[in-house]
Amino acid sequence: MLDDLTGKIALVTGASRGIGRAIAIALAEAGADVAVNYLSRKTHAVETCAAIRKAGSRALPVKANVARAAAVARLAATVELELGPVDILVNNAGIVGVKPVEDISEADWDEMIAVNLTSAFLVTQQVLPGMRSRGWGRIIFISSVAAQTGGITGPHYAASKAGLLGLTHSYARHLFKEGITVNAIAPALIETDMVAGNLQASPAAIPIGRFGAPSEVAAVAVLLAQNGFLTGQTINVNGGWYMS
Ligand code: NAP
Repeated sequence: MLDDLTGKIALVTGASRGIGRAIAIALAEAGADVAVNYLSRKTHAVETCAAIRKAGSRALPVKANVARAAAVARLAATVELELGPVDILVNNAGIVGVKPVEDISEADWDEMIAVNLTSAFLVTQQVLPGMRSRGWGRIIFISSVAAQTGGITGPHYAASKAGLLGLTHSYARHLFKEGITVNAIAPALIETDMVAGNLQASPAAIPIGRFGAPSEVAAVAVLLAQNGFLTGQTINVNGGWYMS
């Protein structure tokens, strides 16, 4: 039997646009109230919140740079105060940086790891004690086909996304008995601003022959939130690029 998400509190990082936005709205359509984290595009976040409210759920836009521990602590406290303790966490916020391999600097590496990987650790650590005390939680990491194949972006991006799979496996293992499932989604070439800004991204790279839609990733996130017997897995939403 699948879990009812009605009244559950979800936090989706990087939900102002793209995949995060679609996941936030899909969780709302499944009954959850949703905190919409963003970095700088407030108008987009407010628009995502309007779509969530239209679906009949509560919504809260929260600006925070999830790569910074102090900002993450404020984010978690604000969500708990305004909506309630987080039951469903989707670590989605991320960046790409397309450069020739030899031009990737230590600063590029540090920024990529901070935004794509450290952020997921920081937000998870903030909400985990509450999930444990309530005996129910869902943690979803948005990885990438780059973790599995190297992708088309660069080694710093691929490493950050592979690191998320390590977090998935370790958290899942620690939390088996506590009603908390932990999974990753590994998409490839989903039609968002991120892909529009990457000249190397072409539908020709995808066996199915087209980009994916954010809603096709969002449907998987909802399933992961509803299914208490599914943990420690990577669900590939990639048009057949990598087969597991
Ligand atoms: P996107 O359209 O570029 O949106 C990125 C989102 O992340 C925005 O909401 C942005 O906020 C937010 N963000 C960026 N840095 C942040 C930070 N430091 N703190 C808080 N929020 C931050 O990207 P997308 O394509 O939807 O990608 C979403 C996730 O899926 C990323 O982790 C990406 O690596 C992964 N992914 C995407 C694809 C793809 O083909 N699109 C494939 C595999 C994996 P603002 O709007 O305020 O800037």
